[in-house]
Amino acid sequence: MMENNLPPYTPSPFRHHRRETRVVDVGGIPLGGSHPIRIQSMTNIPTLETEACVQQIVRLAEAGCDYVRLATPRAEDAHNLSAIRKRLQALHCHIPLIADVHFTPEVAEIAAERVEKVRINPGNYTDRKIRWEYSDQEYREALEKTADRLLPLLNVCRRNGTALRIGTNHGSLSPRIVSRYGDTPLGMAMSALEFVGICEDFGFHQIVISMKASNVRIMTESVRLLVALLDEKGWNYPLHLGVTEAGNGAYGRIKSTAGILPLLYDGLGDTIRVSLTEAPEKEVPVARTLAALASELQTSGPEESGVPDDLAYDPYRFHVRKTVPEGIFGRKQAIVVSDWAQRQAEACTPADLQALPRLHSKDALPNEAAALVLESPENEQPLALRAFFNRLLQEGNNAPVIIRRNYRETERERFYARATADFATLFADGFGNGVWISNPHFPEEEIYQLSLHILQACGIRFDQAEYIACPSCGRTQYNIEKVLHDIRLRTKHLRNLKIGVMGCIVNGPGEMADADYGFVGCGGGKVSLYKGKQAIYQQVPQEEGIERLIQLIKENGDWTEPEA
Ligand code: SF4
Repeated sequence: MMENNLPPYTPSPFRHHRRETRVVDVGGIPLGGSHPIRIQSMTNIPTLETEACVQQIVRLAEAGCDYVRLATPRAEDAHNLSAIRKRLQALHCHIPLIADVHFTPEVAEIAAERVEKVRINPGNYTDRKIRWEYSDQEYREALEKTADRLLPLLNVCRRNGTALRIGTNHGSLSPRIVSRYGDTPLGMAMSALEFVGICEDFGFHQIVISMKASNVRIMTESVRLLVALLDEKGWNYPLHLGVTEAGNGAYGRIKSTAGILPLLYDGLGDTIRVSLTEAPEKEVPVARTLAALASELQTSGPEESGVPDDLAYDPYRFHVRKTVPEGIFGRKQAIVVSDWAQRQAEACTPADLQALPRLHSKDALPNEAAALVLESPENEQPLALRAFFNRLLQEGNNAPVIIRRNYRETERERFYARATADFATLFADGFGNGVWISNPHFPEEEIYQLSLHILQACGIRFDQAEYIACPSCGRTQYNIEKVLHDIRLRTKHLRNLKIGVMGCIVNGPGEMADADYGFVGCGGGKVSLYKGKQAIYQQVPQEEGIERLIQLIKENGDWTEPEA
């Protein structure tokens, strides 16, 4: 079923097996191999504000962060990393620092002399020419030029023992890559792979790779593809995981979890960042919970081991498993099962499902059923449930399946993370038509909302507007947390829209990728408002921004009034 003949991205998609990677040292805190999953975060203060950055970094270190990244857009920011380092040393804070560089190789080279790791984005590091057609020879030549621009940085990194993250983001691929592979998960993987190839040729191996997107499915697919392509070449570099622009609050946490934890369950990922549009210190406990849950995962699982020859689905291309009837009980979209009195009309109650066969993942499959309820005990690995769906596909059983998990977790953060990852692990492969979560320690209403959020985070069903909100960093041009809150208050009922809320004009427009509308800071108290990828209103005073955004949505016929 793997249409593109790629090798498996894991020895078995049905049991946990941590990918074997080489160890990369980052300032004395190594990552990869059998080291714990490292936690990182990023300052959201301009890197020239030394004292404020230092205080935030100290808070992050105290919260349990292993590495801290700083936006480093210009040479003066890169130089100031030395001052930040010096102040931190005076405070006995020795946390490794990472410079985040996008556009300027010279800035990366300055930074690489001052910090333990540099992150570059292969999409905009060298290849900025807007050109959409390349002959094979032109493509080769452009790649050679890229290598020439990268080698000085590799030299500095080698001399200083600095690690390098090759960090691809969906929405900021180079025109050269898009011309050949499209703006796709494969394009993301190839973008990083080309840079890794240059490093390999140079004999530089202190590399970490990331594939980030605000769309969980795209992120998952790109990471799986990357791993398959790396393994094919025998390149065992560790991975950094994260969902970009996940937003804030419960939904931001759920969306990050839906992207990160299923990949960790699959054994992929050596360092993680939970990006929230909140104070960075708040990211750390969430990330620690995800890392703890991943390490708790036992290696036991169903009998299967290794990818069976007859894997009945393609793990590199998302397809919703076809069912008859399409959807469940005539409802095309996935359902939530709930007893909450104010659930939506399309929800089901447990009583509605009484007549359906209930089975466990290893039970024999019934021949005919309008739908099935898959009962999964709390301690059953979600990966084991994939084997159940694989069996349904192999046996041609196309009954819709409602997945039931009953939890006893009393701690909210762990309950949310476990439930999200359990379902997201299956939704990532298009498995499951209904969510039935129960937990006697939480009210029905809360569980109902959690279920809707999980479905939305996985891109299975949308019940409110989707916000693609950047976490903010030293480049941010306004109070993004407040603006996101205000935009959400006015627009959350627009359930079919994706709205980007981005801190800066440099990376914002690219990184909000598939947003329908965008609100982007451009400095000096001004914002730009986007319809898709096009800036429609520019240099709008920030205090008028939300009204003008709503005006733009109305002008395009996408506005509906909220229900009273
Ligand atoms: S979009 Fe946001 S997080 Fe990304 S560089 Fe701009 S301000 Fe920083």
